Amino acid sequence: MTEVKVLEGKDLTRIERIGAHSHIRGLGLDDALEARKSSQGMVGQQAARRAAGVILQMIKDGKIAGRAVLLAGQPGTGKTAIAMGMAKALGEEAPFAMMAGSEIFSLEMSKTEALTQAFRKAIGVRIKEETEIIEGEVVEIQIDRPATVGAASKTGKLTLKTTEMETVYDLGTKMIEALTKQKVQSGDVVAIDKASGKISKLGRSFARARDYDAMGPQTKFVQCPDGELQKRKEVVHVVTLHEIDVINSRTQGFLALFAGDTGEIRTEVREQIDTKVAEWREEGKAEIIPGVLFIDEVHMLDIECFSYLNRALENEMAPILVVATNRGITRIRGTNYKSPHGIPIDLLDRLLIITTVPYSEEEIRMILDIRCEEEDVEMSEDAKELLTKIGKETSLRYAIHLITAASLACQKRKGKEVEIEDISRVYSLFVDVKRSTQFLMEYQEQFMFNEVPGSDDVQM
Ligand code: ATP
Repeated sequence: MTEVKVLEGKDLTRIERIGAHSHIRGLGLDDALEARKSSQGMVGQQAARRAAGVILQMIKDGKIAGRAVLLAGQPGTGKTAIAMGMAKALGEEAPFAMMAGSEIFSLEMSKTEALTQAFRKAIGVRIKEETEIIEGEVVEIQIDRPATVGAASKTGKLTLKTTEMETVYDLGTKMIEALTKQKVQSGDVVAIDKASGKISKLGRSFARARDYDAMGPQTKFVQCPDGELQKRKEVVHVVTLHEIDVINSRTQGFLALFAGDTGEIRTEVREQIDTKVAEWREEGKAEIIPGVLFIDEVHMLDIECFSYLNRALENEMAPILVVATNRGITRIRGTNYKSPHGIPIDLLDRLLIITTVPYSEEEIRMILDIRCEEEDVEMSEDAKELLTKIGKETSLRYAIHLITAASLACQKRKGKEVEIEDISRVYSLFVDVKRSTQFLMEYQEQFMFNEVPGSDDVQM
């Protein structure tokens, strides 16, 4: 590998935030990091949100690296929502990678490879590049039609008059397309980005180059020895180490990034990339931005993975690891030992633990309100009250699921807003866990594999 390639443009690391948590837009904290009762889609859970905010602040200040946080609490108490809130609050640049513990049991790659990829998806590299922009008035455009029929590429020449001289530039297909699209003619003023070959039309008459802001901020003007007035622009892009890995792994190439089918990446490739990135850092060309790696259902990892995490956290480039679980004292996968949350004590000892607590009726109501708005569902006050009661008795998640279902029932009867009858209807159509378990208890003899000895083993 002679040169490490990086991808420009589109950022692929961002997770798609649709569905269950699309209403979460941050942690809802004020400047003093106090949690507002309801803000940015977040309701209640104030202690946990404040703790998450403190950790975020430490990440932003660059004070912690290689730290890990455990979000522990009962199902549906907002652990994933808080992790999402952290991602949003972290800003655009820092990468946020997310995986479920069970994802490591893939047939395509080893468990440690899956974890390594996840770690490297959460480490950003901020790369600075300088590019030159030349501005001038178009004197002549000459485009050569392809000689052979069906040839896709066109070539051409552009004569550009700058403040001091006239220069002829060779044009590629992309440049010709840009010129045609922008209807550039003689007399127009254009800017050419030397590094990317990008051409932008700036106007008709030759105003002073300083008047143009078209090429964005961070622009300096330099008078070059040959008299051309050039702009020098600093281009900054953030890519993740994983993206650099994939682009440079010869068997895969960058297309694998889009397909998501990256396979295993060879250790030598990663070593070369790490060396190159270290060089760039020394030359001041790149900075490391540690992001967040969120592993949900962390109890699904096994002892080998936990040992990997222990080691990986010691790396100087390690991201912040946020893990979540709803398990109590349970067996550590791959062993016969039990431990709190199914996490070995040595790893547990390194974790900052944040606990989440069940919601009050008022908080459930507020979350349901937000979800109704998010899902664009009109609901009467009575119906909301009933749904809140259902949420309290069953689970918040079940109540959230009933919103869309009830709205469909309402549409079916051509109603204007969801009423109590719609809620009752879907409540009878879809059973919650408690009722489903009850049903199983009563009729379990009629199911297959009904060896469940008694109700003792079944959690209610
Ligand atoms: P599990 O342990 O089952 O994975 P969890 O603790 O991760 O559960 P979430 O998935 O975060 O729970 O919460 C369930 C639903 O309730 C989600 O749609 C989530 O966005 C929403 N929710 C939970 N807590 C809050 C909150 N404090 N504010 C707003 N929405 C919330």
